[in-house]
Amino acid sequence: MTLVVDSLDAGYGKLAILHDVSLEVPAGEIVTVVGSNGAGKTTLLRALNGIIRPTAGTVKLDGTDITGRATEKMAALGLTHVPENRLCFPTLTVRDNLMLGAWSRGGKGDLDAVLELFPRLQPRLGQAAGTLSGGEQQMVAIGRGLMASPKAIMLDEPSTGLAPKVVAEIMKVLTQLRERGLAVLLVEQNVRASFGIADRAVVMQRGRVVLEGTPAELVELPEVRNAYLGGA
Ligand code: ATP
Repeated sequence: MTLVVDSLDAGYGKLAILHDVSLEVPAGEIVTVVGSNGAGKTTLLRALNGIIRPTAGTVKLDGTDITGRATEKMAALGLTHVPENRLCFPTLTVRDNLMLGAWSRGGKGDLDAVLELFPRLQPRLGQAAGTLSGGEQQMVAIGRGLMASPKAIMLDEPSTGLAPKVVAEIMKVLTQLRERGLAVLLVEQNVRASFGIADRAVVMQRGRVVLEGTPAELVELPEVRNAYLGGA
């Protein structure tokens, strides 16, 4: 098991948000976390990545306890976080944005492997990242995370604001990461897209895991269909 979260509590100052959250992401699997606005999905990724310090519970990566380690150490430990809003450095070139991801590995990253996943970025390596389309910027944000050769990658709503065709492209890349043996933890509002590729899904409500199963199992539940799939 690559990423194991056990009985995690976390929040902001005295404000408790996550309560007793447990989940597991095996190598070569995609686990998606869904839930309505404010359910605590982003907070979960922040707690896993050390941006906020869990108040209870543990996070293990390949058996190593990484709970509450400093964020800047996480990439070197093998955990990559692609935050919401596809943060790129707009005035830096695509190449420099990608190379920043290799920093935790002493500047050595496999640029060719990233370009193989995102061939669209090849002709744009010298272009300022701020001039890319939203989808291409998301590719840079994911590619930068991959430059650290992680064991596990966590993505926070990579599909936001993207056209369906680009969303499909991003989802396909996540399946390729699965094939390469990464553990993929995908937070998504676009449940149709994430259920389409995920091996397992976790539903969060008010900071707790309330349901889990395969997407096929969960779509059978009326409460899941009504809340996340428009009742369809
Ligand atoms: P969304 O889908 O809208 O992004 P989410 O499931 O990711 O929602 P979170 O962003 O984790 O939810 O928010 C969970 C709760 O934590 C919310 O009530 C939110 O107001 C609160 N929260 C988020 N960030 C902070 C912060 N920096 N300080 C205090 N409270 C916060």
